[in-house]
Parts: sequence; C-alpha cells; structure tokens
Amino acid sequence: MTTAETSPSPTASGVRTEEETAARVKALEAMLIEKGVMSTDAIDRLAEIYENEVGPHLGARVTARAWSDPAFKERLLANATQACAELGVGGLQGEDMVVVEDTDTVHNVIVCTLCSCYPWPVLGLPPNWYKAPAYRSRMVRQPRAMLREDFGYEVPDSTEVRVWDSSSELRYWVLPQRPAGTEGMSEEELAELVTRDSLIGVGSVLHPGGQRP
Ligand code: FE
Repeated sequence: MTTAETSPSPTASGVRTEEETAARVKALEAMLIEKGVMSTDAIDRLAEIYENEVGPHLGARVTARAWSDPAFKERLLANATQACAELGVGGLQGEDMVVVEDTDTVHNVIVCTLCSCYPWPVLGLPPNWYKAPAYRSRMVRQPRAMLREDFGYEVPDSTEVRVWDSSSELRYWVLPQRPAGTEGMSEEELAELVTRDSLIGVGSVLHPGGQRP
C-alpha cells in the first residue's frame, strides 16, 4: 500500500486516542468488506473469538502440560509455535512464538517497545498497560524497579532479569516455574495456578490453595 508513507503519524506522545484507533479500525473494516476480502460476519466472528475464546487460559493449559511432561517442555522451548499446535493452540499473531523459561536464577519479562506485539493464541488480546508508552519504555530500562513499583513483584537481587522485546516477527512469552507443593496435581489443577501476569513476567503463579507466594 503506497498510502502508508503519507498517512498521519501517531500523536506527539506516540499513542493514538481510543477515538482515533476506533476510527482507523472502522475504516479498515469498511475497506476489507468493500474489497471483498472479508465479510461483516467473518469480522464479527474474529472479534468474538479474540474477545471471548482465546485468552490466558490457553497459555495456562500449555504451561501445565510443560510442567507435567518434560518431553513436551523440551519441544515447547525448542519451537513454541509447533508445540502449541500439538494442543490445538495457535493462529493469528502467534505464527512465530518463542517461550523463555524462568529458573531459580533467571526471571523473564516480555515487552514490545515498538508497539504492542503479543502472543495472541496463548494470551488473548494485550492488556492496556502493555500497550502504554510507560510500560514499553521503562520495562527495558528499569525492569526490576518497574516490577516492584508498578506490579508489586519483587525479584530477588540474586536473580537475573531478562527482558524480551517482541516484534511482529517474533513474539515471546514466559514459562513460569512450577510452584512447590504441586506434586501429584493433574494438568487441569496445575493450569488453574497459571496467571496471565506470570506468562508476561510481571506477576507470579498461584500456589496451591490459590495463594500468591
Ligand atoms: Fe509491537
């Protein structure tokens, strides 16, 4: 599209208002329908899927499998998109996913400094704060301080914090550590412990009984 170069750039603050975004979405939708690329029904269905059906519960399911099945975990870390597909998880904005593993010595966090790239198939649509300039700029510079001040998540000094910058080509997400005291739990039970924030790296998983550590 040649109009891309001449289209107005985002406002000085680098973000569009809700109204501007809504207007652009409407314009794009109208164009897709007019050009016969998509029908109104198809667009409605797609919006519904990403609003109601695709969400962190899918990332939780993949995580619980990785906690329960070492061979699956190995495949997940080697090729997340392929491993997720084994569980029927995949699709738009998840064509090239990379999973980074938390350990006793490394804590991972994901961000998209450029815009808001996010692994939709396992997390659904990104929360608003993920798209905000404050998160995108500070998380790369002061991750430890931001985790503590904005998310109440304390990373011990002895643990290295790694920040992964997603792009439209590569979308990262975090495999949190399996909490202690969960031996013998089923995959369904384990999945209940996985929070959205733990998959982003800004929060922890729940411990058995629903407690945060
Ligand atoms: Fe982005």
